[in-house]
Amino acid sequence: MTPSDTTVQIHSRPALSRSELDTLNENFETAHPSRVIQWAVDTFGSRLALATSFSDTLLVDLALGVDPDIEVVFLDTGFHFAETLDVLRRAQVRYEMNLRVERPDPATVDLWAQGSDACCAARKVAPLDQALSGKVAWLSGMRRGDSATRSETPIVSIDRRGLVKVNPIAAWPTHDVESHMEARGIIVNPLGDDGYDSIGCWPCTERSAAGCDIRSGRWAGTGRTECGIHL
Ligand code: SF4
Repeated sequence: MTPSDTTVQIHSRPALSRSELDTLNENFETAHPSRVIQWAVDTFGSRLALATSFSDTLLVDLALGVDPDIEVVFLDTGFHFAETLDVLRRAQVRYEMNLRVERPDPATVDLWAQGSDACCAARKVAPLDQALSGKVAWLSGMRRGDSATRSETPIVSIDRRGLVKVNPIAAWPTHDVESHMEARGIIVNPLGDDGYDSIGCWPCTERSAAGCDIRSGRWAGTGRTECGIHL
């Protein structure tokens, strides 16, 4: 299955123009993430969703502090670490989340033999397309400090679906992130203390390489850097 096989609604007219995006990005560059999220909630209401891999609950904590009803999407690929599913379980105890768990088509076969492109397309991209169908905007936890390829991540953009994609913590300085996480007691994946700085599916996640960016353990040695949901 490829992204084009899904029934995702492609918005031919994005909700924001190029000049509006430029103005928003300029205004939000040094804004607290909660202000960005507040703008998104005020602008898109229930047509806004949040997608998270539950490597931690930072974005969930920030977003639910603005709007407790926001829809939280988790893509259950079937290949998550047990520790990741435990972060999800602990988050469900702590927060009254409006949680939507999206899974691959039950007919999805093990596509590993056909490579990670096909596997991610079926287990991540298509389910997120499905979850975002009917939405106008979504929140993601991408940060510029994640990797060199994410170093220019905008705070507000238009994705390949024509949806408004909002990355409230894209430009948040690392020391602010860390102090906020400590102050709020953000739930984190214990694998982080074991060298896994970025956590995805277990078949495609290794410990980060010394001296390399935090996503260096994802699809290590394949040249692949993203699963496709952020296009
Ligand atoms: S990250 Fe790996 S296991 Fe997970 S969907 Fe992509 S290729 Fe499949």
